[in-house]
Amino acid sequence: MPNYDLHCHSTASDGLLAPAELVQRAAGNGVDILALTDHDEISGLAEARARAAELGLRFVDGVEVSVSWGGITIHIVGLNIDPGNPQLQQGLQAIRQGRAERAKKMAQDLARAGIPGSLEGAYAYVDNPNLIGRTHFARFLVEKRYVSDVKSAFQNYLVSGKPGYVPHQWATLEEGLACIKAGGGIPVVAHPGRYKLTRTEMRKFLGEFKDGGGAGIEVITSSHSSEQYLEYAILAGEFGFLASRGSDFHGPGESRIDLGKLPQLPADLKPVWHDW
Ligand code: AMP
Ligand code: MN
Ligand code: MN
Ligand code: MN
Repeated sequence: MPNYDLHCHSTASDGLLAPAELVQRAAGNGVDILALTDHDEISGLAEARARAAELGLRFVDGVEVSVSWGGITIHIVGLNIDPGNPQLQQGLQAIRQGRAERAKKMAQDLARAGIPGSLEGAYAYVDNPNLIGRTHFARFLVEKRYVSDVKSAFQNYLVSGKPGYVPHQWATLEEGLACIKAGGGIPVVAHPGRYKLTRTEMRKFLGEFKDGGGAGIEVITSSHSSEQYLEYAILAGEFGFLASRGSDFHGPGESRIDLGKLPQLPADLKPVWHDW
């Protein structure tokens, strides 16, 4: 089976590698087909596509859209989108818009907790000024030795109930799906095992996602344990979703699983790439 990796991040959002470097690394790792899926952002796609063409790697235009549903944040990956679609572009711009204001509030909250200078500190890690996120703050917290690594930054700060957390209203599920569908993309639930939902809530979400035109679900992702591979393989079958595989790679030293290094999809699932 060819090596598909359909979820990763570049410096256009919160990844550590430039789009061309990311593609180069994917090729070196034996990835045959790569999708770049930056958070709410498609500005890295052209560079990635050009490098992929040079290296003979097949490239898929993607995006990871932030939505709010049932009081939590859910990520929807859009695969095979048309980056030139104006409705997609406008939709993503609207979703990005609140990030700068949210970052200011995060910095104020961290300052109140005795951590000064985090806005400037986080922006030092930002390559795309339109896309500041929690990961950039996490890197600043590591730099200043408030924590030892990015993971601990998220355990001790930046998450609900901890300093630096600011609740945020992203797009609605409907808006997120509309944006991806306008661009002709396939909507895929990103890392479903990461959301704090009960089984009943997860089924409710998947039902609404499907009714809204959602088509796929990540089964094999670095966020899942082996038990969760099985759990979401079963849900994929039950809901008739196409199954996806993606590392969610953010950078060397920061991500547990490298590009193209996850297990293959279970053979009984219909892959999201079945008709590509
Ligand atoms: P944001 O879109 O700004 O809220 O940031 C979301 C990003 O933060 C995710 O895509 C991850 O890259 C990162 N993130 C969230 N939770 C964790 C965690 N527990 N450990 C490491 N990174 C995390
Ligand atoms: Mn991220
Ligand atoms: Mn995500
Ligand atoms: Mn991601």
